[in-house]
Amino acid sequence: MAASPCEDIRRFFRGELRENEPLSRHTSLRVGGPADLYAVPEDADDLRELVAWLGSRDIPWLAIGKGYNLLVRDRGIRGAVISLGRLNRIEDAGEGRIRAGAGAENLAVVRFAQERGLGGIGFISGIPGTVGGALRMNAGAYGEGILERTECLTLLRGGRICEFCVDELEFGYRHLALEQGDIVLAAVLGLEPRDSRQTEEEIRRDLDLRRSKHNVGFPSAGSFFKNPPGRAAWRLIDAAGMRGACVGGAQVSEVHSNFLVNRGGATARDFLGLAARVKQRVFETSGVTLEEEVRIVGEE
Ligand SMILES: Cc1cc2nc3c(=O)[nH]c(=O)nc-3n(C[C@H](O)[C@H](O)[C@H](O)COP(=O)(O)OP(=O)(O)OC[C@H]3O[C@@H](n4cnc5c(N)ncnc54)[C@H](O)[C@@H]3O)c2cc1C
Repeated sequence: MAASPCEDIRRFFRGELRENEPLSRHTSLRVGGPADLYAVPEDADDLRELVAWLGSRDIPWLAIGKGYNLLVRDRGIRGAVISLGRLNRIEDAGEGRIRAGAGAENLAVVRFAQERGLGGIGFISGIPGTVGGALRMNAGAYGEGILERTECLTLLRGGRICEFCVDELEFGYRHLALEQGDIVLAAVLGLEPRDSRQTEEEIRRDLDLRRSKHNVGFPSAGSFFKNPPGRAAWRLIDAAGMRGACVGGAQVSEVHSNFLVNRGGATARDFLGLAARVKQRVFETSGVTLEEEVRIVGEE
């Protein structure tokens, strides 16, 4: 990337801009080298101008939410990392629908719906992160994924803001097929009438369950591996004898064996080494090849 493009960008950009920003500050695993540029656009127009500027100079970009599902390699990211955190508006779209900006936090969306007597998305209450990240990952719990509750998505694609009905897109378990460079700007969620007390109960149940099961005591990215069809990744990891295994500062959690945790001072290399060992042992003991749920990005 050309030396210090910040000055040029600041001529039009209204958001926050940093150079050589350590991504360990922006990921829940607390590892990851620097991004050449780290930008937090003020709104969709700011984002569009930034992406057009980057595109015109062949500078790659990566959109992120809150980094709860990201493993950034130690050499960091060449190009720009764009946080969608400020595109966090939530609006009532009428007829039982809610429009949520990509940067809105999941629980805030559930609460917004609850105040209007709407529900059906209680399962995202305790999933840490933003709506953009949740849509990109088709995040979910208890057999439900957020895209099943989504009517349409607004994407920034090829410099243009486009609306897609969710049926036009291919998606599945922890998967949404987007094109390289697509950025999710917002989604319209189709909800159902729900008594606010019932939603409160769903939220409380979810948060309680997570406090007991996900409170692993160290930084993590939640489930590291996807559940293979009909199997639970944590059982396969347990059966392979990997609970508690360590590489450097990275460890298979003693509490939940599909969580890889940072016991302190871990590097991305530690996590990658540990993940490779887990995959190898699981394959040797069960014949199953685990696939990472966590997104692995950055320079080798
Ligand atoms: C304790 C814990 C528990 C968890 N429990 C669950 C769970 O029950 N279910 C579940 O599904 N996940 C779970 N997760 C994982 C994580 O919370 C989800 O994947 C969440 O949706 C990530 O959101 P985020 O905003 O942090 O996304 P990020 O981690 O920032 O990004 C995730 C991916 O989406 C892309 N992305 C983010 N925003 C955009 C955007 N606007 N446009 C295009 N691409 C984008 C990023 O490039 C990246 O590839 C858990 C994580 C933790 C730490």
